[in-house]
Amino acid sequence: MSLNHIRPWRNIERRKSRQIMVGNVPVGGDAPITVQTMTNTLTTDVKGTIAQIQAATDAGADIVRVSVPDEASSRALREIVPEVSVPIVADIHFHYKRGIEAAEAGAACLRINPGNIGDETRVKEVIKAARDNNCSIRIGVNAGSLEKHLLDKYAEPCPAAMVESGLDHIKILQDNDFHEFKISCKASDVFMAAAAYQQLAEATDAPIHLGITEAGGLMSGTVKSAIGMGNLLWAGIGDTIRVSLSADPVEEVKMGFEILKSLGLRHRGVNIISCPSCARQGFDVIRTVETLEKRLEHIKTPMSLSIIGCVVNGPGEALMTDVGFTGGGAGSGMVYLAGAQSHKLSNDQMVEHIVEQVERRAAEIDAVK
Ligand code: SF4
Repeated sequence: MSLNHIRPWRNIERRKSRQIMVGNVPVGGDAPITVQTMTNTLTTDVKGTIAQIQAATDAGADIVRVSVPDEASSRALREIVPEVSVPIVADIHFHYKRGIEAAEAGAACLRINPGNIGDETRVKEVIKAARDNNCSIRIGVNAGSLEKHLLDKYAEPCPAAMVESGLDHIKILQDNDFHEFKISCKASDVFMAAAAYQQLAEATDAPIHLGITEAGGLMSGTVKSAIGMGNLLWAGIGDTIRVSLSADPVEEVKMGFEILKSLGLRHRGVNIISCPSCARQGFDVIRTVETLEKRLEHIKTPMSLSIIGCVVNGPGEALMTDVGFTGGGAGSGMVYLAGAQSHKLSNDQMVEHIVEQVERRAAEIDAVK
């Protein structure tokens, strides 16, 4: 048995939401929290877009969003969807026809705000296309694009205005007897986003798509997302997430999983526990961890590995991980397997040996699944 079992004091009670389907992926209810990203290629570059979706899928993405700004992109979507293994969300703004085309092209979900696509007839046409093609909808409220009447009412973007916008869009779908929807309420300000999501979570049982929009580059955006989304996820809010970064979509997926892994909400691959290192280290911890992170990228089995520089914290951490190595000085250290001390290992054989042990342990965990 993996040692990654949930301890009672780290159990997060998730908000009870309705479950919908995005293609073959359940979102909400008791489904695992899914990780999404979005392509940044031109959608009309079919080959490039498929390659980017594939790379994101290999990194673990459950759902990928693709922008559909024009008719040529809708046509491209028709070629992209059959070539990829994850459900595709079509990102639509303002043009109701793109919504209809995307649904017919095989999109599993439309990201569209029904209040922003024109009169009632158009809204009904898009909803009909979604229904006819088994397509769900994500209402995507964004603090930066709130409706004018809400800005007039509230004077500036604020959580109450965002929630009101979201509920207005929900009402349009419900009035049309369409219930396969999820909702997001994004802002680049973590306080605004967190408050909006908290209020939204109280006001609806729709599955919630979490995101801190335009969060920034890889490092600053990840920190901002981890604080904003981490706070909400910890409170049980969020059924699917996207870390929005000015970076490769693969990085968004990796960071999404890291956030979920930190909270024990989803496990994928090796969770490496390593010390920052100091003068006591028995080997070069930083370089070893960098190498192991790369060498172990292919492992998808949820498991843990501790790489600790010395006996101050090494044995204690190793007791709680699937595989552990603790530096001991004099060119060698101790290997721990399934929380028990196992055998001595010379530092110069360490990386190869640890990779072997992790692969073996992953196979054992997979065998009893
Ligand atoms: S575990 Fe040992 S090597 Fe690592 S930081 Fe602590 S004292 Fe230093």
